[in-house]
Amino acid sequence: MSSTWRDQARCRGVDPQVFHPAEEDDVAAAQAKAICDVCPVIESCLEYAVSTREKDGVWGGMTARERRRLVRQRRRTA
Ligand code: SF4
Repeated sequence: MSSTWRDQARCRGVDPQVFHPAEEDDVAAAQAKAICDVCPVIESCLEYAVSTREKDGVWGGMTARERRRLVRQRRRTA
């Protein structure tokens, strides 16, 4: 099997609940983002989540709301 960015994910083995905080729970989201901040594949992870329109959870250091904002910004500057 070929190696992918997921193999290097810093969140491997971490309780998935940590990455799926309630939408308005900024404290819980910050916990997940702290792990993303030191993850070597943060960019690949974020692009994956954006390209697959992942609706929930923290991916690539961003909450779903932040990713929606990013997509809107990209559309405006495209
Ligand atoms: S950026 Fe965050 S959610 Fe994505 S693989 Fe790394 S630790 Fe996991």
